[in-house]
Amino acid sequence: MIVTGAGDGIGQAVAFALARQGATVGLLGRTLRKLERSYDQIVKTGGPKPALLPFNLETASAVEYEALHDALDREFGRVDGLAHIAGILGVLSPIDHYDVPTWCKVIHVNLTASFLLTRTLLPLLRRSEDATVVFTSSGVARRGRAYWGAYSVSKFGTEGLMQVLADESEQTRIRANSLNPGPVRTAMRLQAFPAEDRNRLVEPAAVTAPYLFLLGPEGRGLNGMTFD
Ligand code: NDP
Repeated sequence: MIVTGAGDGIGQAVAFALARQGATVGLLGRTLRKLERSYDQIVKTGGPKPALLPFNLETASAVEYEALHDALDREFGRVDGLAHIAGILGVLSPIDHYDVPTWCKVIHVNLTASFLLTRTLLPLLRRSEDATVVFTSSGVARRGRAYWGAYSVSKFGTEGLMQVLADESEQTRIRANSLNPGPVRTAMRLQAFPAEDRNRLVEPAAVTAPYLFLLGPEGRGLNGMTFD
């Protein structure tokens, strides 16, 4: 199982939960130090030895995507699941002031990189008996909200990418679904709502169950659906 954003927040909690269920997890993320901490925690708690996959979704070149594919192919020969959880908020700003480079970065990290990573891993997903791809959506993915700019638009796009992939599932034999975890106490949430009472928010561990459901055998037969 490949989990993006596995060094922090929801991605880390999902990686831990998968490992607890016995999955070998590929910990993909930007900051090696954080990934190593996730790795150590999984090993300490008796989970299967994970794979460390430091990978910057903002800057990765075609060569790096290919190298990632080749490394996973050599080490595991197949990928059973891909959980797209990494993401960035960008800024909260009205459209007429929205910083253009930030817009491009958010769309790239949250949407285009999910496409690139999915495309890269499709040959390995196809080798699985039951491959599943889960995208992380948001409350601003189905109805745009003022000031949420590129983040909101990237999540609309994520829903579209999921639907296109799901509709191609006859060819790909891969199920694809998306999930909006709702408000969770993470660095991103704090960035979006700095004045909020953090004690009212659930911890990342509280939202792992639906990810496990969609990534595991219970989610068989579900395709092209979006969950809150
Ligand atoms: P966090 O900020 O806690 O974690 C985001 C993760 O994405 C980090 O592990 C981060 O790595 C990784 N990441 C960011 N940029 C890159 C990059 N360029 N390359 C590789 N990895 C990167 O956020 P959350 O856990 O809150 O968010 C997880 C997902 O859930 C996101 O898709 C978000 O949109 C979605 N979501 C979150 C909600 C919430 O309330 N928290 C609500 C609805 C949706 P690093 O730490 O190394 O920077």
